[in-house]
Amino acid sequence: MNGLGVDARSEVDPTSLDGRRQWKWRFSTAGVHLFERNTGLNVLLDEISVPISLHTRAPRQVSIALTNRCDLECAHCYAPKSRDELRFDTITRWLAELDAAGTLGVGFGGGEPTLHPEFVKLCQYVAQETRLSVSFTTHGHHVDNELAERLRGSVHFIRVSMDGVWATYESIRRRSFAELLERLRDVRSISRCGVNVVVNDDTLPELDEVARVSADAGACELLLLPQMPVRSVMAASVDTLQGLRRWVDGYKGPLKLCINESSAEGFPTCDALVQERGLRAYAHIDAMGVLKPSSYSDTGVQLSDGGVMQALDQLAHGLAENDT
Ligand code: SF4
Repeated sequence: MNGLGVDARSEVDPTSLDGRRQWKWRFSTAGVHLFERNTGLNVLLDEISVPISLHTRAPRQVSIALTNRCDLECAHCYAPKSRDELRFDTITRWLAELDAAGTLGVGFGGGEPTLHPEFVKLCQYVAQETRLSVSFTTHGHHVDNELAERLRGSVHFIRVSMDGVWATYESIRRRSFAELLERLRDVRSISRCGVNVVVNDDTLPELDEVARVSADAGACELLLLPQMPVRSVMAASVDTLQGLRRWVDGYKGPLKLCINESSAEGFPTCDALVQERGLRAYAHIDAMGVLKPSSYSDTGVQLSDGGVMQALDQLAHGLAENDT
């Protein structure tokens, strides 16, 4: 059925496709992508051919560093050690624009996003006033019963950092691992969750245990983040990457394995939206309001009154990304 056309004038109410689910959709070369934020369900109608003029220009996913502040001091941290913080009304204005333009979800990070003074209000606002999926990445140590109570119903996914277990974790994060396991219970009471692990020489041998502990805590996903070079910290070595590939090949556990795009080469990844790359797939806004292709990138455009979509065009032009 390739070649079936789509008529942009036929407006479909996503809530009416299924009486219970709230679908949001995007158009691309791959077809029509439907997404439901409460379940995380993605459906790709790849038999529908969408004209280029109708392709969704906004990034599929956007991450926002709400604040650079953090009370931990991990050596591998890329966040600048400054007190820069974004304002509530600025963030909500950007997100309203991105929501209308077809972005599916926002991931709040930092620094430590739970330290932003209006973090809860922000999650509640975005969940209620937009159709964006709300997620955040946290070291987890501030997610107690009280915060969980306030966030429940306003967050769709949480990522918790866990670099190794017990002594390894504690040497990297300088926080109690037993306490992290306690906090994971509160995290799981809010929403679906996953675990992020920075993979280096110390954490690679502990991946089995990280995966086991994560699954026991109710996580559904393990995001593998080969260590990036930051200040005095070296990038994950070739040996470490080879060891990680062997571990991935042999993993038989229940968690969905994911890897960041910049480290994905050589790993058995599945990407249904292979044509939707670069800024069509993802963009990052740092705590100073600079729009970037990734949190590690030195290239960026300062967001101004012109809005996010205009800045995206400017950034795409600078990166020489074409418009297809
Ligand atoms: S917890 Fe995250 S933001 Fe804080 S220092 Fe560690 S890596 Fe950086």
